[in-house]
Order: sequence, then structure tokens, then C-alpha cells
Amino acid sequence: MLTNRHFVVVLQKRHGAQNDTERHVGDLGNIEAGPQGVARFNTYDTLIKLNGKNSVISRSIVVHFFPDDLGDGLFVDSKSNGHSGRKIGCGRIDKKHSKFV
Ligand SMILES: [Zn+2]
Repeated sequence: MLTNRHFVVVLQKRHGAQNDTERHVGDLGNIEAGPQGVARFNTYDTLIKLNGKNSVISRSIVVHFFPDDLGDGLFVDSKSNGHSGRKIGCGRIDKKHSKFV
């Protein structure tokens, strides 16, 4: 599966944490998996939408090798992608169609 680039709608914004006033739309922070490698995640977000330019439909949730430093690190890529390293897993976000329920 190919994934798109980091979900950045406004290029001038810096990478950050979900609650930061300046962040990319797709910046949702870190999710910690349990001892079996399973993570569960629920969130409410004011930027992400299901329609329009901020839509997450057909985008991906990506798991990176390193924890996201939320733009606060001192690495050259901290302000662009949180120095999170290479992609090690992903899942596509799609609408659930009622005919398949
Ligand atoms: Zn970002």
C-alpha cells in the first residue's frame, strides 16, 4: 500500500501536537500499544473533517518507527514530521457503505 505524504493542508504550519494552535491537520500525536502490540485510539478533533479539503477519507493512519516528538525536538525534521522515522504500518480510512453492513 502506498500512502500519501504527511497530511499538511497549509504548508506554512509547523508540525505539532493535536492540541497545539499551530499544527498540520493530520497531527494526532502518539498512540502507545500494549504488550501484545495492540493499540486502541479514540479522539475528537476540531480540524479533521469527513468532507472538503480537511477530509481524512481515502487518507491513511500511519505508524512510524520512532515516537513523534510533536515538533519540539531538536532534529532537522522535528518541525516537519516530528522526527518519527520510517513508516512501519498503515491503514486506509474509508467511509463504510450501508450496503455492506
Ligand atoms: Zn505534522
